[in-house]
Amino acid sequence: MSEVTPIIPQATSKRLPLYYRFLQNFSNAGKKRVSSSELSEAMKIDAATIRRDFSHFGALGRKGYGYDVDNLLVFFRSALDQDEETDVALIGVGSLGTAFLKYNFQKNHNTRIVVAFDPKVPKEGKSISNIPVFHPDMMEEMIKKMGINLVILTVPAKAAQEIADRLAAIGVKGILNFTPARLSVPDWMRIHTIDLSVELQTLIYFIKNDVKDSQL
Ligand code: ATP
Repeated sequence: MSEVTPIIPQATSKRLPLYYRFLQNFSNAGKKRVSSSELSEAMKIDAATIRRDFSHFGALGRKGYGYDVDNLLVFFRSALDQDEETDVALIGVGSLGTAFLKYNFQKNHNTRIVVAFDPKVPKEGKSISNIPVFHPDMMEEMIKKMGINLVILTVPAKAAQEIADRLAAIGVKGILNFTPARLSVPDWMRIHTIDLSVELQTLIYFIKNDVKDSQL
């Protein structure tokens, strides 16, 4: 397997964290090797897709042997930067934001929210689940000081663009946007939008129209 992360298609790279999680489960259960059909069964992704994805990683399963779980975990850990902890900031501590602060990301990932911002807190800040929450006036200073590149955005839609502009101005690289706002940002900044009502509507549409291939 190559030491360097190869260039892989976007659809494949979106499945990386999922593969990582399932391989960890197999490893925790003491399994040393796994076949594409076992993974397929567990993940509900067809085996041909898994074999194609894994060929992009340079992982070629052997007939009758399958894939070496530990080797794959080493690859995924490095591809996903799981050897390093990723610090994340959260902006907007309403109902959804508070739920994220209380949710323990570290159970499965080396990602953790280390700071949050909301105008409703006093200037001196407060703490939720041991995560400090400050006024957004402090946002730029704290994010720069803490070297944070990734932000979860759970503010009202009308506040989202202004926050995105401020984050772009200090070079934050990615926003996980939980607001329905479509954000305009510089090319180098990455936005992933998860609009929960759109996701639900899509699911309802799939159910009503009996659309089948909707696992991921
Ligand atoms: P709540 O019920 O706590 O008022 P909510 O869960 O209904 O909030 P929103 O009204 O969408 O959700 O607001 C989410 C949070 O974003 C609120 O806590 C609000 O104070 C905060 N917020 C609003 N504007 C900003 C801003 N410019 N920067 C950071 N946080 C903001």
